[in-house]
Amino acid sequence: MRKSKNIGIILLLVLCTTLAAKASREDDTPLKALIVNGQINMWHDWRVSSPIIKQILEQTGLFNVGVATSPPRGGNMEDFKPDFSSYDVVILDYDGEDWSEQTKTAFVEYVKNGGGVVVFHSSDNAFPKWVEFNEIIGLGGWGGRNEKAGPYVRWREGKIVLDTKPGIAGSHPPAHDYQVIIRNKNHPITKGLPEKWMHAHDELYSELRGPAKNLTVLATAYADPNLRGGTGEHEPVLFTINYDKGRVFHTTFGHAKLPPVPSMECVGFITTFQRGAEWAATGKVTQKVPEDFPTETEVRRWKNYKNPKNNVTSEKES
Ligand code: ZN
Repeated sequence: MRKSKNIGIILLLVLCTTLAAKASREDDTPLKALIVNGQINMWHDWRVSSPIIKQILEQTGLFNVGVATSPPRGGNMEDFKPDFSSYDVVILDYDGEDWSEQTKTAFVEYVKNGGGVVVFHSSDNAFPKWVEFNEIIGLGGWGGRNEKAGPYVRWREGKIVLDTKPGIAGSHPPAHDYQVIIRNKNHPITKGLPEKWMHAHDELYSELRGPAKNLTVLATAYADPNLRGGTGEHEPVLFTINYDKGRVFHTTFGHAKLPPVPSMECVGFITTFQRGAEWAATGKVTQKVPEDFPTETEVRRWKNYKNPKNNVTSEKES
């Protein structure tokens, strides 16, 4: 009798310690972020984008950032086994060969159990045939996707419309400065941002298709039909997905092939990325909107930005 009472007290202490650890993390303990990279399509280079992602996450003071770099194409993917479950948020900067079944299962379980994910730009081109991955990212493009992948998500006459018409998935006008319109002002990621702001020189991802389940559009941008490839639609550019207990922030911004990378120097990109990563990790956003946030007519680029020299690869995650 007495023994079981002691065990009960010990369990209570363990529980309290766990709760205390979680609570204090909101104050001081850094969140653990993992950038997944190593392979990307021919139009992008993770060696350029991942160091910038690492830098802007660390700049918040909220994250310890690890990196899991897969083998290059043709390498032994069986050895690529990131320990997703030990992180608060996983940032995808990857479009390449299939992961092993073990790694795919570990990723899906991580998200189901409440793990955070940030889908970055052309990572939504990845894994067109992996059903759970496409549910996690909500919408994807290219890779042979078509109407079988799911509907287009359109903002028409003040509301979301799921358009199931047949057609390709994935296109964009040439990179240009364009205006972003916040469509959900009450979400933690977008709360306090100006309703309209200019995003710096980027591809405007268009005609994405996918399961779009439990998807919340945060912001759209109008793909001007006067530009080559402009759809004349308000394309979703920032959105979230709830996948079981997991939170997913999907940013279509951030085209990066060679420096300089104006799309990732944009204060609007940086701010929404930082806030989206925190929300994916915790469900909350504690960061203030910076004073130099872009305006309805004016692009703002990060004045202190310097191209990081260190290559962000690692054999181990830390
Ligand atoms: Zn791109």
